[in-house]
Amino acid sequence: MKLHEYQSKQIFARYEIPIPRGRVAATATQAKEIAEELGGRVVIKSQVLVGGRGKAGGIRLANNPQEAEELATKILGMELKGLPVRKVLVDEAADIKNEIYLGVTNDRAARKPVMMASSAGGVDIEEVARVSPEKIFRVHIDPLLGLRDYQTRDLAAGIDLPRDHWRDFGKICRGLWQAYLENDATLAEINPLVITGDQELLAVDGKMLIDDNGLFRHADLAEMRDLDAEAPAEIEARKFGLTYIKLDGDIGCMVNGAGLAMATMDIVKFFGGEPANFLDIGGGASADKVAAALRLILADKNVKAVLFNIFGGITRGDEVARGILVALQEVKTNVPMIIRLVGTNAPEGRALLADANLITATTLAEAAQKAVAATKEG
Ligand code: GDP
Ligand code: MN
Repeated sequence: MKLHEYQSKQIFARYEIPIPRGRVAATATQAKEIAEELGGRVVIKSQVLVGGRGKAGGIRLANNPQEAEELATKILGMELKGLPVRKVLVDEAADIKNEIYLGVTNDRAARKPVMMASSAGGVDIEEVARVSPEKIFRVHIDPLLGLRDYQTRDLAAGIDLPRDHWRDFGKICRGLWQAYLENDATLAEINPLVITGDQELLAVDGKMLIDDNGLFRHADLAEMRDLDAEAPAEIEARKFGLTYIKLDGDIGCMVNGAGLAMATMDIVKFFGGEPANFLDIGGGASADKVAAALRLILADKNVKAVLFNIFGGITRGDEVARGILVALQEVKTNVPMIIRLVGTNAPEGRALLADANLITATTLAEAAQKAVAATKEG
């Protein structure tokens, strides 16, 4: 789950990371009021769950409350990378002298969290990572020992941070690590962490990703989920406990089990097709779950054929067949359906489907070939 900038910074503040004064607004009038409260220059920041808002025009400086209102009106009417802006954060503008990058994430290869810092912080850290990776310094954190003070000093030295800031920088590193750890985050990032004209360190931007599998023990975080800002398909999938990832191809795949789903995608590619999604309906899926999954697949306009690969164990073939029929009643479609159904209650399932003008197959290879052929015909 992605958190908004304002949510991430609120969490950071609990860990004694200094953030600018400010509040979030849903209307331009509110933005003006906040600007009046703060006094002086403010920055109006679109709250959308994408990066690079600055470059896309979603972050603007306002000199007075009047300007704050005007800019908020503009930004609240914008779409950023396809997402409508529904809220803006109004922060006291920072007097920025330097922009530093500081982040912590999981390094799967090292099987440890890693904290990264760079003096080349700001808007283009991905570019820095690509073009001049030597400008990014890393320390791996032993999960049992936690972040050690010498490691934060290593980072500070690595990015040539002036000595005067080392104490504060160490405190911010420890705060960020604690925020990452205690909230089951997969990413906690400050970009930029700035040095201000008053020689203070300040977290101007914040980003956190929370591990969905850890959300059950963070009711406060789960509440922060902004459904408005997420893709409708993902919301729908989560509601039904489906694992759905949209891809760019044209063959929709409905499979029970993640491993089988991957194998199915491989076979589709092997026969010259491109999967439109990864979808795992899970073990023992009921008819309504299957129906929801099929609606999801068919909502993708790229889909030219749907391949069902159901291996009945706990999942029953007749339940799956019923789900398909229910979904087909709701969603009228001409998209060809190719079904490979084997295992528990497969004959019953096939009997239910027999009248429904569906293409059946006995092996996965046959089903994949038929699906690929169907996309080529259409
Ligand atoms: P992002 O583009 O989505 O990463 O949004 P950021 O919050 O990181 O803002 C992008 C850039 O806008 C920052 O790197 C800064 O250069 C600039 N910026 C953001 N807030 C302020 C501010 O308070 N004052 C000034 N002068 N610049 C800011
Ligand atoms: Mn940023």
